[in-house]
Amino acid sequence: MTLEIITIPCLHDNYAYVICDAASGTTAVVDAPEAAPIKAALDARGWGLDQILITHHHDDHILGVADLRSAFGPQVVGAAADAHRLPRLDMAVAEGDTVTVGAAVADVIDVSGHTVGHIAYHFAAAQAVFTADSLMALGCGRVFEGTPEMMWNSLSKLAALPPETMVYSGHEYTEANARFAVTIEPDNADLRARVAQIDATRAKGAATVPSALSLELATNPFLRAGQQSVKRSVNMEDASDAAVFAEVRGRKDRF
Ligand code: ZN
Ligand code: FE
Repeated sequence: MTLEIITIPCLHDNYAYVICDAASGTTAVVDAPEAAPIKAALDARGWGLDQILITHHHDDHILGVADLRSAFGPQVVGAAADAHRLPRLDMAVAEGDTVTVGAAVADVIDVSGHTVGHIAYHFAAAQAVFTADSLMALGCGRVFEGTPEMMWNSLSKLAALPPETMVYSGHEYTEANARFAVTIEPDNADLRARVAQIDATRAKGAATVPSALSLELATNPFLRAGQQSVKRSVNMEDASDAAVFAEVRGRKDRF
């Protein structure tokens, strides 16, 4: 099974992802920050748009939905919990549901925390998870609506996916995330190597996403709140993982 995935920069620092199931030619886009660059990517390949998979209700993830709907008539999929504040949904889903794009199957994972009702789409066979503003490259979304415990629970679900899974997140925030991450784990050699790589990638103007979950597990301070090195760093050696996550998230908010 082949799933082609195209990264599309949108707005200031958002990413949309066009995905195409090669066998059937079925196409979808994960989030629609704005219509024009998504349309351009589809036009360049002579593709239509069969589906829009929405991760959460924030404007910078849905502003292009209406234009894409009128241009292509796609099926719009999003969280049932957010149906009241999303563009009109043709399919409302919750954790445990599956979404199919041609022959490709995605499991819906509730990753609430940044917003309550944020979902991720995990294409297990393609080893890809679309996380938007939950787990991000070297970071995680700010906890706006949920609680730190809720976000930690969401990140823990993503951490349990196969380590070779590629994480497609919603923004190019990695350079700023790197500057913060080294304040938490200055002695993490994997992190230092990754930061050098990120600097080189950004110097070329290239995207730092997607990233392998294995790399996030080794370097992302938010995913690593259960590690003794992180607990020691914030002087919370006896605290729960969720409490350490809350402290790390709070430090990033003030950073
Ligand atoms: Zn958001
Ligand atoms: Fe966002």
